[in-house]
Amino acid sequence: MTSSSSHGHRPRAQVDIDLDAIRHNLTLLGARAPGSEVMAVVKADAYGHGALPVARAAVEAGASWLGTCSLGEALGLRAAGITTRLFSWLDTPDTDFAPGIEAGIDLAASSLGELRRIADAAKAGTRARVHLKIDTGLSRNGCPPSAWAALVEAAAAEPRVEVVAIWSHLACADEPGHPSIDLQAKRFADAYDTARAAGLDPIRHLANSAALLTRPDLHFDVVRPGIAVYGLNPVPQPEDLRPAMTFRSSVALVKRIEAGESVSYGHTWTAARDTNLALVPAGYADGVPRSLSGRMDVLLGGQRRPVAGRICMDQLVVDCGDYAPAVGDEVVLFGAGAHGEPTAREWADELGTIDYEIVTSMYRPRVRRRYLGDRS
Ligand SMILES: *Cc1c(COP(=O)(O)O)cnc(C)c1O
Repeated sequence: MTSSSSHGHRPRAQVDIDLDAIRHNLTLLGARAPGSEVMAVVKADAYGHGALPVARAAVEAGASWLGTCSLGEALGLRAAGITTRLFSWLDTPDTDFAPGIEAGIDLAASSLGELRRIADAAKAGTRARVHLKIDTGLSRNGCPPSAWAALVEAAAAEPRVEVVAIWSHLACADEPGHPSIDLQAKRFADAYDTARAAGLDPIRHLANSAALLTRPDLHFDVVRPGIAVYGLNPVPQPEDLRPAMTFRSSVALVKRIEAGESVSYGHTWTAARDTNLALVPAGYADGVPRSLSGRMDVLLGGQRRPVAGRICMDQLVVDCGDYAPAVGDEVVLFGAGAHGEPTAREWADELGTIDYEIVTSMYRPRVRRRYLGDRS
């Protein structure tokens, strides 16, 4: 799955993943939660960065857990040789948990039904490792507090299950000081007391990236950073995180047009003066949102230059003025921002979304992925 960097040709569209940045971010996050183990969240193909290379880099930099959403994602990592503790938390009722239990993958239960399905999948003589989830106020998955005592009591009485942890997830950790955070923390403490009263002795985990960075009192035994692993900062304060993903293409064709000529479908852009255009073979099928037409720049020849007219399925056009790019010149669509290029955050702000969605949508068959700093 690792695209080799030995291809000599210029990419149409390429995503570079800097594994040194991933390791740097993990080291920083580990240092910020010194008393806790770190579970690097690599769901959704590591937020579009590639689950296996990111998992390896995260483990190299000290992650002792990896988190996935689906069991399939966790099994894929096991099959590829990842021996680190894996936790997978959201599957459908028809999921067969038996392969996960055999592979030593920790599973989540939010209800008696889920607990039973997991217990039933454990082969005689084996125990499934389960993390019981309490809904402390996100109202997504997790067991409501009213049903919690019954869940922990059933889990404590179930010999085919080992209760490893209780856990929950925060709704507003990226808004430090939001009153829901303390309320969720209080409910989490109550849920822990109830679990202890039922005879359990679980570890606890609650903190996503934002809580890891802003709420040391909520780190507990394991922290679960996702977005910060990829170098994107979810909190208002600046942090020394390094975005790992750079989206590049290159100039495929250069031409000069006269003032008054228009560019791309619908002729939404007309040259006000004679100008040089650079054609870039990356479009919305490659992850450049069409709704950024007329609203984005690229870095080309050391400067930001605007995209002219509509972004097409396979290509876009850059207005270069009197600057004359050469065919083959590199074009950066977004990156860490260190050289003046746009960032995923900038795209997200322009589109009214979050940078999570930008990077996660970059896993596309036509986009080549290249890993920098690969030690495997
Ligand atoms: C995605 C996810 C995380 C990571 O959240 P970030 O905001 O990316 O740090 C942690 N825990 C759970 C349950 C998640 O679904």
